Amino acid sequence: MAKQQSLHCSFCGRNRDEVKILIAGQDGHICENCVEHAQEIIKVEVVPQKSDDQSGSKNKITIKKPIEIKAFLDEYVIGQDDAKKVLSVAVYNHYKRINQKTENDDVEIEKSNIIMVGETGTGKTLLAKSIARMLNVPFAIVDATVFTEAGYVGEDVESMLSRLLQSCNYDVESAERGIVFIDEIDKIARKSDNPSITRDVSGEGVQQGLLKLLEGAEVLVPPQGGRKHPEQKMVKVNTQNILFICGGAFDGIDRIIAKRINTNAIGFNVNKELQDYQQDNLLQFINAVDLKQFGLIPELLGRLPVVTYLNPLDVLTLRSILTEPKNALIKQFIRLFEMEGIKLTFDPAVFEFMVQKALEYKLGARGLRSICEGILTDAMFELPSKKITEFNVTLEYAENKFNVTKMGILKVA
Ligand code: ADP
Repeated sequence: MAKQQSLHCSFCGRNRDEVKILIAGQDGHICENCVEHAQEIIKVEVVPQKSDDQSGSKNKITIKKPIEIKAFLDEYVIGQDDAKKVLSVAVYNHYKRINQKTENDDVEIEKSNIIMVGETGTGKTLLAKSIARMLNVPFAIVDATVFTEAGYVGEDVESMLSRLLQSCNYDVESAERGIVFIDEIDKIARKSDNPSITRDVSGEGVQQGLLKLLEGAEVLVPPQGGRKHPEQKMVKVNTQNILFICGGAFDGIDRIIAKRINTNAIGFNVNKELQDYQQDNLLQFINAVDLKQFGLIPELLGRLPVVTYLNPLDVLTLRSILTEPKNALIKQFIRLFEMEGIKLTFDPAVFEFMVQKALEYKLGARGLRSICEGILTDAMFELPSKKITEFNVTLEYAENKFNVTKMGILKVA
């Protein structure tokens, strides 16, 4: 009995009743707190050395060639060839840079963070997501509008790395090679050219905050996100090898591009046909100068060297998006019905109808999903309780169902 009472952790001295478990060794015991503590020390002291020794082998990402990357993207994203090509090269170079870091120290290859400009729903997020899926690296999507300059209501920019850490179960080493997609980057454009009077805490202030992260630095990250506060335990993350991809709609940037092109290159003498062509495809001429004019600060643009654009979606692209990508919307619904033992089919005219509605409501590809849901909700509600094995969606059925959805009713009103 006396022996039992004297049981304690040989490391921290806590008694048996102060801990959950005591693990016995040859001449002593260790409690769960000390095991955890020891594990942390091992992580810090031993693992980095090990990975240094093996750098390039354990951490090497097997990266496909740009043509293969594009082919992979083609499976998930319709059209947007220019963006795919630019992204494939940027991603290839980025991971080449990581893999060759130690062998090639005299020529330091700089990071190729990317900025994508295109209307909402044209596939910016999908492109970034598909790349992360291909590389099998941690991926986080964050919204630039939630951040504010330190000291104001909102989140610290560092908290975007918390999402990345969460996505890989706080494996810092993996997170340090991940991809962060910063959406709505246009919303943090400088509000006016006059920097004096009021502080622009959610615009220029955030852009300033992003500089360090984008360039590559050791930053302290609050593991749960939000605002940093002094009592919180921080995780140190090095952003040197994290690829940042920014996306934004940049509403009205076409006017800025037009102005630049007209004054710089076109003038009044160029033939009308060329001018019309360029008017329709202005985004393809986008460059950092236009983004600066829009309100991104030059320092930020310097850290986003790769600029690319996405085309607005036309009828044909929307039609393809419905059925062609690997996880196309229609394929997803067919699979859902298949799980009920029902073979779902569509009259081709239904697809044309869906595309037409998506265009009518100016919803882009994102709208296709709600239109599909609207048409199929009743079927998904009723059919699992019926004993049928086939279900064909006709144009008439689709029209009837769509017209009674909230979207359809609104249009009628
Ligand atoms: P963005 O980030 O440009 O606002 P998303 O990438 O989130 O748009 O696109 C919204 C949805 O629309 C995606 O989930 C995808 O299903 C569909 N989509 C958009 N563009 C494409 C495209 N080019 N190819 C395939 N699907 C697309």
